[in-house]
Order: sequence, then C-alpha cells, then structure tokens
Amino acid sequence: MDVSDILSPLNSAQREAVAAESDNLLVLAGAGSGKTRVLVHRIAWLIRAQGLSPHAILAVTFTNKAAKEMRSRIEEMMNISTRGMWVGTFHGLAHRLLKAHWKEAGLPQNFQILDADDQLRLVKRVCRELDLDESRWPPKQAMWYINGQKDEGLRAAHIEVPHGDLYGQTMLRVYQAYETACNRAGLVDFAELLLRAHELWLKSPAVLAHYQGRFRQILVDEFQDTNTIQYAWLRVLAGKQIPVVAVGDDDQSIYGWRGAKIENIQRFADDFAGCQTVRLEQNYRSTQTILQAANGVIAHNFGRLGKELWSSGESGEPITLYAGFNEQDEARFIVEQAQAWIDDGNARSSVAVLYRSNAQSRVLEESLIRAGIPYRIHGGQRFYERMEIRNALAYLRLILNRGDDAAIERVINTPPRGIGSKTLETVREVARTREISLWQAIRFAISEKLLPARALGALEGFSVLIDEMDNGTDEMLLEELVEHVEHASGLIEFHKKEKGEKGQARVENLEELVSAARQFEPEGEELSPLQQFLDNAALDAGDAQADAHEDSIQLMTLHSAKGLEFPLVFLAGMEENLFPHRMSLEEPGRLEEERRLCYVGITRAMARLYITYAETRRIHGSESYNSPSRFIREIPAELLQEVRLNNTVAAPVSSLTQAQVPDTGLSLGQRVFHQIFGEGVVLNFEGRGNNARVEVHFDAEGSKWLVVQYANLQCL
Ligand code: ATP
Ligand code: MG
Repeated sequence: MDVSDILSPLNSAQREAVAAESDNLLVLAGAGSGKTRVLVHRIAWLIRAQGLSPHAILAVTFTNKAAKEMRSRIEEMMNISTRGMWVGTFHGLAHRLLKAHWKEAGLPQNFQILDADDQLRLVKRVCRELDLDESRWPPKQAMWYINGQKDEGLRAAHIEVPHGDLYGQTMLRVYQAYETACNRAGLVDFAELLLRAHELWLKSPAVLAHYQGRFRQILVDEFQDTNTIQYAWLRVLAGKQIPVVAVGDDDQSIYGWRGAKIENIQRFADDFAGCQTVRLEQNYRSTQTILQAANGVIAHNFGRLGKELWSSGESGEPITLYAGFNEQDEARFIVEQAQAWIDDGNARSSVAVLYRSNAQSRVLEESLIRAGIPYRIHGGQRFYERMEIRNALAYLRLILNRGDDAAIERVINTPPRGIGSKTLETVREVARTREISLWQAIRFAISEKLLPARALGALEGFSVLIDEMDNGTDEMLLEELVEHVEHASGLIEFHKKEKGEKGQARVENLEELVSAARQFEPEGEELSPLQQFLDNAALDAGDAQADAHEDSIQLMTLHSAKGLEFPLVFLAGMEENLFPHRMSLEEPGRLEEERRLCYVGITRAMARLYITYAETRRIHGSESYNSPSRFIREIPAELLQEVRLNNTVAAPVSSLTQAQVPDTGLSLGQRVFHQIFGEGVVLNFEGRGNNARVEVHFDAEGSKWLVVQYANLQCL
C-alpha cells in the first residue's frame, strides 16, 4: 500500500489529522467519526510516508481487544509483522516496561501481578492483622481507597491526614501495611503497575532517556478516559521531544468512577506545546435517525466541549421503543426481533444487546437458550477467573517464586491437607512479626517447632510437596509443566472426587489449561515461558469468552461496548433506577456520566436501534416498578416508534423453538423442580437417555449439572 492509498479512504479533516506535521495533535470528535480509523491510518502513514520504524511508534488503546484489532489492521494494510511493536493498554505497556527494568523500578525480577480478586484477599488479610472490624471498615472500601490514591500518584508516605480524621487515619494505616506486604512478596496490583511505571521515569533518567530516544511518536485512543497517573506518565515520557496524537470524545467519558479525568482533554492543549486541534464532524457509522437520537440525549449535559455530528447517510428506520410487561416479556421481544433479523440473512454477530449491569443478562440468556440462538457474553466470568484455574496458576506461581504470599494463601490448604485456620494464623503472625514471607515463616515454624506435631507435619507436607513438584521442571515443556503441576498438586484428583457434576467441569477446565499452555507462544528469551504464560493469564482482560468462534449474538454491559459498532443494537432495561443507575440519581456529576453512557450505547448502532424497558422487573430477587428512563424522554419523540402490546404476557415456553434432550422427556428451556435445589430452567445438555446430563439454572442456587437418571427432576 502506498501513501495515496493510505489517504484516499479518508475525508479531508481525517486526512489533515493523519498527515499533520505539527508537534502535538488533539483529535476531538464525536462517536463514529473515524477517530480510531485516523489512528490506524496515521500509523501506516508514519511508516510509509515518514519512514518511521514500526518500533519507534507507541500506541495506547483502551482494551486488549482493541490493541489486537489495531495490530491486525496494521498488518493487513502494510503487510508487515507487528510483533515487538509497542501497541497495548496503559497497563500492558507499563508491565512490559517494568519487566524490562525491574531493577531500576525497585522490584524483584520475578514480581507477580496481583489481580483484583487476589488484591482483595490481601487487603482483607492486612485488615485482620491490624485488628480492624470488617463491618466497620469493609476491606473492599480500603481497596478502593488504596487504588484511588495510586491513581492520583500518591504513596502512603505522601499522604497527610488531618488530626482527628479517623477514617483517613485508618485507611492510611491499611495502605501502609498493604504496601509493606506487597513489597515483601514482590506483588504488583493494577494501579501499582501504572504508578511504578511513572516513578520509573522519575527515578531513572537513563531509562527515560532511552525511551525518549526510541519513540518518535505516541498515539492514544479514547483519551477522555485517561486518569491522572496515566496522563502524568505520558507527559513525562513525551517530554519536549516526542509528538503525541490523542483522540477522544468528552461525551464518551464513562470511567469517572474509576478515576478518569475528562479535564485531561482540556489540559492537553495547554500542556503539550504547539498543539493543533482537529475536529471530525461527519459520522460514518449510524443512520441520521440514530445520530439525532444520540445528539438529543447528550444535549442535556452541561459543560460540554461542544461538537456537531452529521451524517450523509440515509435517515433510516425509526427507533423502536418497546414496553415489556415484565423482564421476561422484554427478553422475549428482543429475542423475537433478533431472530427475525437473522432470518433475513444477517449474521448473528451483527446483533448486540446492551444493558447497564451484569445481573440483567441472566433473563436474556435464558430466552436466547430457549430459542436456540448461540450468544456470547463479553466480560463475563472468564476462563482465567475460574476458581480451579486460579488455583492451578497459584501453584505455578510458587514454582517461580516461593515468596508469593497471595499464591500460598490460595493453595496452602487446597486441596485440603489438614492445615487449619489456627495453623495459618500462626504462620501469618510469624511472617508479620519477623517481616518475612509466608514461605519463610512456614520453614521457620517447622524448624522452631512452633506448633503441635500434627500441624507441623501438615506444614512440612506442603513445603516438601512444593519443592518436589519443582524438581526437574527446568527440563519440561510449558504444557508438560502445567500438566505435571496439576497432578502433583493433587488438584486433578481432588476435583475428580468432588461430588456432582461440577467437579467434572473443573477437571475439564484444568485440561483446557494444558491446551492453553500448548498453544501459548512465548516471545523472546528474556523471561521463561512459564513467567510469560502467567503474566499473560493475569493481564489478559480477555474481553470475551474463550469459546468465541461460533457466530453468535453479543451480550455486554454498556461499558464494555465502548469503541465497538453493530448493525443492530438493543438497549435493554431502560428504566429509572436501573439506567440511570439508582446510585447516580443524587449526584449531578454522576447523572451526567450515566447520560454519556447512554450516548455511548445509542451510537454503537449502525442501522437499527431498539430501546426496551419492563413495567415490572424482578431483579436481585425482588419485584420493582420503575418508570421509563428519563433518557427515553430526551430522544426527540418524532424519532421513536412505540410498539406496545398491551396485556401481552411472556409466551408459553412450548411455543418457542425447543431442543429435546434425547430420550429423557426433557427439553431446553423447560422449567423443572428438584427436591433439594427447587425450581429452575434447563439450559444445556450432553449425552442421551441414561447417560444424559443437563445443566439447570436454579432460581435460588444458580447453575448445576445433573445426571438425569439420578436427579429425579419433575417437569413443571
Ligand atoms: P468511537 O467514538 O465510537 O470510538 P470512532 O470515532 O473511533 O468511534 P471509528 O470506529 O474509527 O470511529 O469509525 C466508525 C465507522 O466509520 C467505522 O466503521 C469506520 O470504518 C467508518 N469510517 C470512518 N471514516 C470513514 C471514511 N472516511 N469513509 C468511510 N468509512 C469511514
Ligand atoms: Mg474509536
């Protein structure tokens, strides 16, 4: 592809941005105006027209998925490999830096990433050690406090608490103790990645100079959602020499609750010298109708930077508004409409159902299953978050680093080996008073005989197990190593013995981890394949589910829909208290953020948009009656077409497509009763007749796999 091919598929404002010669550039434009497209084409232009090496370019995206997409677009356009290019999220890039410069960053070489779950566990432990009452000082709140401070670039040592501020003092004590625990064990949480990467610039001018010499251009997508520490990191790196191109939309800032600062857009023009601003005003994504609806809603916010968006596209169909009788009826309507769209020859993946909170997905899922339509949830429980996988990864982490306290906490008694909470308390106490790791504390407790013989035996057993497990691992291929650890740790055997069908699923997941190791491609020789595999598992925000190949309808929260587009979009659950969310109603700032989220939602739609709500809704186990969302009223009425099927109730199950579970008398979508678990609905099955197993989602107990022969299910 030559230079003219890079510029020709762009409009003149986009071209100006792609080929701008100025030092710094801010592209400020509404949804669907081609901001992301500009970034990709600019990278191509820098390489082709300016002769920059792909390695001299740093591009920051908002999700790992977006980074992958950007790489593949570049590969497609330029026919070059993007391996080794610096394209990723702020967190991913910070991690890469810290791995390369661990010494300068004051970290052990084998430092481990602490994900949100492990972080909470560690904060809990710290709170316990400080003798804090959990009900008065919830660990989760302390975790938010710590992350909030780090997002602002503040270490415990920087914080001054006014006299008499008990809350501030307590949180600070937790922060201090947490910092110590992380440093001792070589653990780095997500906020810490960013903070350390920033401190690396300040502490180590040589490292900074190296990267300032290397990068010739920095590009940032979704700039409106950068937080203070990300902005500071960027600014120091850019210094006076590296031009920065930032693209963003103040109307799409939706992460204020996580510390993102919309003001960074305004600051950019002041902080980055000679900054030129380009505005893109033509929208290429949506019909006129959809665009006018989005403009109508966002116009209700104050203090906007003000952008106009127009489209030369057709006016398109009106927006359909549907008032469901209840949430079941709402889901039924969505599924019917989606099915009709698919029957017209459209791909399932062209359909997205968006909602405000995760809990809304269950009813939609059940309806889709009944109708036999494959679907996928973005950002649902991901493979690497499943309990058995996290346990296996913890054992693998111990192979690399016995000082990993979080890993020890996770598996010291999983599978159960007689190490009780008393023993563990003692070990923690030793670790705390002697300022050593849990692993060292175990060794110490054994050598000093600090515990009764049985407890010592159990601890000794654990310590020998880990050391023996590690034997000969240097010689193994990654997949052999994973398989070996899963067996030697006793995890496989443990789950095989587990009652019910859950154990089987867990064993299958552990087997899947071996396949993942087999498919994993390590990069470079600096870090062992195991280390890279573990980092990847911790970092991969994996934005989607593992079995993602089948053409399927997309379900996701509005937050995860950012940057994406779909021909057909449903905005479900448009009710006051749900969306805008109940928590946002009191604070004007939060309400405006909800409105931006609504703007993001509407602008995901290309051709068709449906807005639905339910007159009564059962959610979190209780019934509620909410009025339609205020955002619906903010859409100009002439754009809406209301479909209202008064007195309709959820269609009886039998009228929907049903898949039979062969030779059992059961079918998918059927409601059943179980002696112990109560009522539920059949979601899935395997096998037939006496060998058939079904997955039932019980109203009270969640999903379970059962063998039909023994489960004695009664059809309702
Ligand atoms: P968002 O704010 O939602 O992230 P965006 O500004 O990044 O949106 P893109 O995703 O880059 O917008 O572009 C939106 C759609 O418009 C894409 O399908 C893109 O390919 C298309 N598009 C952008 N510019 C042009 C153009 N000049 N000609 C044709 N199609 C275009
Ligand atoms: Mg974009």
